[in-house]
Amino acid sequence: MSNVVVIDHPLVQHKLTLMRRKEASTAEFRQLLREIATLLAYEVTRDLPLETTQIETPLATINAPMLSSKKLCLISILRAGNGLLDGMLDLIPSARVGHVGLYRDPHTLEAIEYYCKLPLDIGERLAVVLDPMLATGHSAVAALDRIKDRGARAIKFVCLVAAPEGIKTLQEAHPDVPIYAAAIDSHLNDHGYIVPGLGDAGDRLFGTK
Ligand code: URA
Repeated sequence: MSNVVVIDHPLVQHKLTLMRRKEASTAEFRQLLREIATLLAYEVTRDLPLETTQIETPLATINAPMLSSKKLCLISILRAGNGLLDGMLDLIPSARVGHVGLYRDPHTLEAIEYYCKLPLDIGERLAVVLDPMLATGHSAVAALDRIKDRGARAIKFVCLVAAPEGIKTLQEAHPDVPIYAAAIDSHLNDHGYIVPGLGDAGDRLFGTK
C-alpha cells in the first residue's frame, strides 16, 4: 500500500496490545492512547523542515538546527480523535487545534457536519488529522473534504488501527494524504467494526458503555 506508514516501533506495538485487551480499564485505555499519540507525533513530524540559526552555547557560537516556520494544526475528528490530542500536544505544544464533528444520516447515509472549527490560516499549516480508528473510511473522507474546502493543502492522516477497506476508500478519495497507522488489521465486520480491532474507541476512551 503506497502512502501508508505503519509505525512498528516496539513501544507503540506494546502499548497498542495493552489497549486492545478487553479488560483494559477506561483509565488505562486513555493513558495508553495518550502515550501512543506522543510516539505517533514523533513519527508524523519526522520530515518537518529545519533551518539553521546562530546560537551561543556557554562555550561557542554555532549554527544549529531549528524547525523552520512550517506551522502545524492538529485536527480531531470528534469524538475519539480527542483521545490523540493531548499526547501530541505534549510534544508539539504550540500546534493549533481544530475539531470536525460529523454524523451519518440514518436514511441517506450521508455524512452531515454538525461542527467544524479550524484556524483561519489552515492553508499555511501542516494539518494532522486524528482519528484512532480508520474503519470504513467514510467519515475520514468527509472530514478531509471539509478540511480541504477550508483551504488545507498539506495534510497527514493519523490513526491507531486501520482496516484495509478504510485505507482503500481514503486513498481513492484523497491520494495526496499519507496515512500513518500503528496497525493494519484484518477486516471490517458486518457492523463496520475493525476486527480484531479494539472495539468502539470513543466508548472505551470516555467510558460510555
Ligand atoms: N470505530 C471504532 O471506534 N471502532 C471500530 O472498530 C470501527 C469504528
